[in-house]
Amino acid sequence: IPKGKVRTRFAPSPTGYMHVGNLRTALYTWLIARHADGTFILRIEDTDQGRLVEGATDVIYRTMKECHLDHDEGPDVGGPTGPYIQSQRRDLYLPYAQLLVEKGAAYYCFCEKAESEEDSGEFDRADDPCRNLSEEEVAANLAAGKPYVIRQRIPHEGTTTFHDVSFGDITVENKTLDDQVLLKRDGLPTYNFANVVDDHLMGITHVVRGSEYLSSAPKYNLLYEAFGWEVPTYVHCSPVMRDQHNKMSKRHGDPSYEDLKAQGFLTDAILNYVALLGWAPKGEFAEQEIFSLDELVKVFDIAGISKSPAIFDIEKLTYFNATY
Ligand code: GLU
Repeated sequence: IPKGKVRTRFAPSPTGYMHVGNLRTALYTWLIARHADGTFILRIEDTDQGRLVEGATDVIYRTMKECHLDHDEGPDVGGPTGPYIQSQRRDLYLPYAQLLVEKGAAYYCFCEKAESEEDSGEFDRADDPCRNLSEEEVAANLAAGKPYVIRQRIPHEGTTTFHDVSFGDITVENKTLDDQVLLKRDGLPTYNFANVVDDHLMGITHVVRGSEYLSSAPKYNLLYEAFGWEVPTYVHCSPVMRDQHNKMSKRHGDPSYEDLKAQGFLTDAILNYVALLGWAPKGEFAEQEIFSLDELVKVFDIAGISKSPAIFDIEKLTYFNATY
C-alpha cells in the first residue's frame, strides 16, 4: 500500500462506556493510519437513537484526546475539524437505499408488525410478501403515505465469501442471511447500512473492529457488490476477555479507560499494555515489551494482530505501570 494512501476510521456507537476492547480498536486503527502517514477518521455511529447513552460521546472524545489518538478530518474536509456524526448525515442515506431498490438488491417493506414478530422468531422473512410486490403496488403504497422500511434483498441461492485478514475466507450459505433493514421507518439508516455507505464515501481502506461483527460481514459483501464498490480490507479482532469464558463488560464491573486512570494507571502504560493485548511485534522487536506511542507508530503492522482472544490481566498492567 502506498504511503499516505491508507485511510482508517474508528467508528464507535455511543452506547456505553469506552471499554478496553474499544480502546484497543481505536489504538490499532490509529496506529495503522499513522504508521502509513495516512488519514485517521473518527466517526460517531449514532443512528440507532434508541440505544444512545447520554454522555457516551463525551467519554469517547475525552478518551481519544487523553490517549493522543488525534483524528484528521471532518465534515469540513481540509480543516482540523471532525469528527463525523452520522445522525447529522441522515439525509444522505435514503438515495443510496433507493439506488439499491432500483438495482434489485433491496425492497420496500410495508409490513406493519413484522419487526416485533421477527424478534420473536415467528416470522420467516423468506415468505415476506413485500419481497415480491410489483412496482405499481410499491408506488401505490408510497403514494398512500404508508410507512416503510427498506430491506436488503438477499438471494435465496448460492454462497457469499467474505475475506478477513486474520480469519481468512468465510463462506456462508445465502439462505442463512436475513433481509436486514437498511433504512428504518424514521428515515434513519441502520448502523450496518450507514457503516457501509460511509466507509465507501470516506474512502476507508482498512476496517478494524471487533469480531462480534464478523457474522454480518457477508451481507456487506453483497451490498458492496450491488453498488459496484471496492470492498475495504477487513481486520476483525477477537474480544478482550475478563477470563477464559467471558468478555469484559460494564455490567460485570470491568474497568473502562477512565476507571483505570482513576485507579492510578498512567495513560502511556495503559496504551502500551493494550497495544500488546492481541498484537505481537515481529522481527527485531519481537522481544521488546515497552513501547512508547511513537515507537508503536513505527513498528505496528496488521500482520501482528492475533485472532485469538486476549485476556485482560490487571497484574500485567500493574507491571507495565511500574516501568513508566
Ligand atoms: N459502530 C460499531 C460499534 O460501535 C462499530 C462498527 C465498525 O467499526 O464497523 O461497535
